[in-house]
Amino acid sequence: MAVKDAGSRIRRRGLMLVLSSPSGAGKSTIARNLLEKDHGFELSVSVTTRPRRGSEIEGVHYHFRTMQEFEVLRDSDALLEWAEVHGNCYATPRAPAEKAMAEGRDMLFDIDWQGAKQLKERMRGDIVSIFILPPSMAELKARLKRRAEDQETVIETRLKNARIEIEHWTEYDFVVINDDLDRAFGEVRSIVTGERLRRDRRPGLFDFVSGLLDEKV
Ligand code: ADP
Ligand code: 5GP
Repeated sequence: MAVKDAGSRIRRRGLMLVLSSPSGAGKSTIARNLLEKDHGFELSVSVTTRPRRGSEIEGVHYHFRTMQEFEVLRDSDALLEWAEVHGNCYATPRAPAEKAMAEGRDMLFDIDWQGAKQLKERMRGDIVSIFILPPSMAELKARLKRRAEDQETVIETRLKNARIEIEHWTEYDFVVINDDLDRAFGEVRSIVTGERLRRDRRPGLFDFVSGLLDEKV
């Protein structure tokens, strides 16, 4: 008898998808699309000392904290990684990520190269990392200006830091050039599909194959 959708019911480990890019290349847009279209993903909501942008919501986009509050979290081992980016501190809270992994759910991390490096050192087997590149530096600048949520001096700092971030592209498993958004998003989804099918992420395959071999036909 045919078993419908047998593949998707096989138990597997969660994956930790890390998206990094220079600011303005489009990783938040891609992350948002992924969360909307792929309900298997949960976003890791970072802690930051950066001021909240007009469009951002506390607890949804970030947990906005003062430097003093951040230091308390850092010193209490509540953070999986942390880094200073563009003059502010950013960090991944430990508890939600560990819970998602233990329950076999997939988690999405929108973090910089320093955070990606720390996560890789701690959880190598669970990490899939994608670096998003802009099609050109001129387009990167145009996108930062179009987003119009940061002041001119902040945009200049981010453009300068873009070169430093881009230099780390070789440390990632995959590289996607975000020229056309639909195509770039399609590429990210293909990567996710492939990574979810990896044999070593699917311990449930052992039972499935035993069942296949025991089946009387
Ligand atoms: P990041 O999270 O990398 O800083 P965002 O996702 O905020 O970047 O994108 C920066 C700006 O560029 C946003 O206004 C977004 O709508 C726009 N954008 C993203 N991808 C594309 C694309 N492929 N083509 C044109 N504009 C884009
Ligand atoms: P933004 O201020 O534009 O939201 O983010 C600035 C940079 O900080 C981006 O490159 C983003 O990926 C990175 N970032 C956001 N959250 C974290 C985090 O928890 N850890 C690290 N290391 N970087 C982060």
